[in-house]
Amino acid sequence: MNAQCSVHTFARMHKFQNPEDTICALATPDAPGALAIIRISGKDAMNFADAVFSGKLKKAKTHTAIFGQVRDGAEVIDEVLATVFRAPNSFTGENTVEISCHGSVYVRNRIIELLVSKGARLAAPGEFTLRSYLNGKMDLSQAEAVADLIAASSQAAHRMAIHQIRGGFGKELAALRQKLLDLLSLLELELDFGEEDVEFADKKRLRKLLGEMKLRVTRLADSFSRGNVLRNGVPVAIVGPPNAGKSTLLNALLNDEKAIVSDIPGTTRDVIDDTTVIEGVEFRFIDTAGIRTTRNKIEKVGVKRTFEQIRKARIILLLLDPLNETERAVIERLEKFKATSVGEGQTLIVLFNKSDRLDKDELKELSGMGTFISAKKDKNLAVLKKKLLKAVAPIESEEGTVVNNVRHFDVLTRCARSLSLAEDGLESGLSGELLAAEIRTSLELLGQITGEVTSDEVLGNIFSRFCIGK
Ligand code: GDP
Repeated sequence: MNAQCSVHTFARMHKFQNPEDTICALATPDAPGALAIIRISGKDAMNFADAVFSGKLKKAKTHTAIFGQVRDGAEVIDEVLATVFRAPNSFTGENTVEISCHGSVYVRNRIIELLVSKGARLAAPGEFTLRSYLNGKMDLSQAEAVADLIAASSQAAHRMAIHQIRGGFGKELAALRQKLLDLLSLLELELDFGEEDVEFADKKRLRKLLGEMKLRVTRLADSFSRGNVLRNGVPVAIVGPPNAGKSTLLNALLNDEKAIVSDIPGTTRDVIDDTTVIEGVEFRFIDTAGIRTTRNKIEKVGVKRTFEQIRKARIILLLLDPLNETERAVIERLEKFKATSVGEGQTLIVLFNKSDRLDKDELKELSGMGTFISAKKDKNLAVLKKKLLKAVAPIESEEGTVVNNVRHFDVLTRCARSLSLAEDGLESGLSGELLAAEIRTSLELLGQITGEVTSDEVLGNIFSRFCIGK
């Protein structure tokens, strides 16, 4: 998110005012730059722009750019390029003008002030995208993906956002909704002819359809943990005894001097994390306090957090130092860790550090149990990166839509529950009316994702999280 979010509070005060207003806002980051773009959208966009601009935008064809000056009376504020988009062929579906001016904070503030003085209103957060949704240019899941695309910091996150913006998710949901509608009409048929003996055949078909629907909705909901991981970075915990070289490894992976490296055991007392992108996948590395028994209170808290981080991680890098311990002790530590700390769905990668000072021939027992690296001398880190990518390959390559939005996850989970209730109801002989009501609930829930069914509260929630200008 950029610094424009700081003006949220101001914008909230006049959130979602009259949708008939012509709105304007800065669409580029709120910092000095070579260029800045000011967006104006609404039926009077061309009129208001013409009131401050030397060209004649009102007569301009759609999708044309005109060079001219923005003036306040006789004073020239800037030389700019104004691009015209006529309704409905614009992002918002309304008349739109985009003014590209020089990126001086003073210049763009003056231009926005001028537009406001001519009658435009300052846009609320997400109001451009809200209008796009309200004017049928995109469904709600696509509008949410606009924010995801802007925030995407890796190829994987970008791929998910683009899929959603292009309507992939929406299409899948539309197909699901259609199936539910078919199911509902089947049920309603049953209600109409309840007395006749079509019942048995229909019950079988209903059961099959319901089962299919529940499976598809559940699969979508289950993809959330994958989507969330890809969006926020795959969590990787770096664990091991004090002084094994965890901070050195973190720095080497991040190419940064983030963690404090020292040879005093227990230096990393808190959890440090940062992300880096390896071949398009974002990893969130978490350097943890060394695992050891300690009396130091602060260090104790660190050790407790270490265990929390290990639980949350998808990948655990266990870093051991055969230089400081006997081979036997290293093996014992490894066995104990495997037995107690690696959960289902987690990948453990065992690393023997300080290979620059190890005589591997003497450590024969260890070879085959892990990878020898040197965090300090950057040895075998390429092999480690390959292992990391291999561990996420199943997450990354799975086909189909990946849900990466907590609102969608919540709605899908409720929908799966409602389908499950309908399934139980069918078995226990629930009346057709009640079954139909449950199916309608599922339908309504799916509609909430794409926005066919929605409330002001949900909309307010989604769009107020956007920044101004989006
Ligand atoms: P942590 O307590 O596990 O975070 O360990 P540190 O990263 O602070 O490192 C402890 C000590 O081991 C420091 O003196 C590092 O310079 C040293 N060290 C880390 N990695 C290597 C390595 O690959 N080779 C050698 N020789 N020393 C290393």
